[in-house]
Amino acid sequence: RNRAARLNRQPQQPVRQPLRFDALPEYQRVNAQRKIGELIGVDNPFYRSHDIAAGATTVMGGREFANFASYDYLGTNTDPKVTESAKAAIDRFGISASASRLVAGERPVHVSLEAKLAQVYGVDAAVCFVSGYLTNVAAISCLVGPQDLVVHDEFIHNSALAGIKQSGATRRLFRHNDVENLDTVLRTLSSDFRRVLVIVEGVYSMDGDIADLPALLELRNRYGFWLMVDEAHALGVLGRTGRGTFEHFDIDPREIDIWMGTLSKTSSSCGGYIAGSQALADILKAEAGGFVYSVGLAPVLAAAAGAALDILRSEPERTERLRRNGTLFLQCAREAGLDTGISLGFSVVPVLVGDSLRAVQLSNELLEEGVNALPIIHPAVPEGMARLRFFITCNHTEEQIRHAVASTARRLKGLQDRNFGLGSLDM
Ligand code: PMP
Repeated sequence: RNRAARLNRQPQQPVRQPLRFDALPEYQRVNAQRKIGELIGVDNPFYRSHDIAAGATTVMGGREFANFASYDYLGTNTDPKVTESAKAAIDRFGISASASRLVAGERPVHVSLEAKLAQVYGVDAAVCFVSGYLTNVAAISCLVGPQDLVVHDEFIHNSALAGIKQSGATRRLFRHNDVENLDTVLRTLSSDFRRVLVIVEGVYSMDGDIADLPALLELRNRYGFWLMVDEAHALGVLGRTGRGTFEHFDIDPREIDIWMGTLSKTSSSCGGYIAGSQALADILKAEAGGFVYSVGLAPVLAAAAGAALDILRSEPERTERLRRNGTLFLQCAREAGLDTGISLGFSVVPVLVGDSLRAVQLSNELLEEGVNALPIIHPAVPEGMARLRFFITCNHTEEQIRHAVASTARRLKGLQDRNFGLGSLDM
């Protein structure tokens, strides 16, 4: 009663109505896109529902498609060695790790997965987080702060950008894969900061080209920054045995300060990791909020990822097949006159088509050809740079690849001839 009386004595505040979500500009943007799609009869290509495990082939609505929208680069997602190992982990540990590993403890599958990851990179230790996205956010925001500088390739993934933002560090970007430009940025900036972190990706997710690791290392040795390499699309893909960018360039992996990767692609699971020195792992396990205050990786996912890494080691021919498929795709696409940008034909091959609407329309038309490939549109890429992005896997057949490329070229030509392109879908 005292509290009520006190509140009554306070001057009246104007009553503020809660903001309605459907009044927000964000919602109006989403809605405008939907309405335009409906108006011109273009279906939303996103969130397509798959009836089965979607690898090189998928089934949607009871119909089979060649699928170029799965990160299951080495086809391990449905491999019995992976699924059996996951089932055994469920039987033994249940599903959840229940709480942070600090509190709920670890399971042997965590320890063994991290040991396998450290072995892949030939480094002391690895630490797993519950997603690749969270790995970048948690690790970057743990290692740098407001007194520090982060310089990154302009095309790095949104999760790394989120980590930098959360860290409060000064952020500068350098032109894509332009080490000379990085040199210029560092020369003008780096002396005033406590720590300097440079972030690149092994294979770039939107364009399918590769970081110039030797040149970056040369700069690292000159400036003494930390070099962090996101291997999301490189593990299982680059290098003779699929160990990634360092193997591709024949570089000692211990030269790189911070290896980052995700378990959702080649490892056909869910989660992410940082690999590097024991001190780095110790710091992250004790100080990274996304590790300390978030649930431990589900044991079933750790077991699945561990089994996929075993396949990576014991069956390097999968990586070889992936490489052959990527090369074939790129070669066919070029012969068909498609614009594959700067892709080198590893895991990711974009086909640039111009504006966002055309990319959406092309993706939808390809469904009629039995091909599933997703558009990447503004704002994920600048307007005018919209594309279909083809993820190649080791299980695609030559016929699937040739058919996908031929259909893409034919349908794109049809759209161009009809001059289908009303500008951006993004209002
Ligand atoms: N880094 C890169 C380069 C990525 O492409 C992605 C996701 N595609 C991530 C990090 C985040 O990984 P995840 O989806 O496993 O959270």
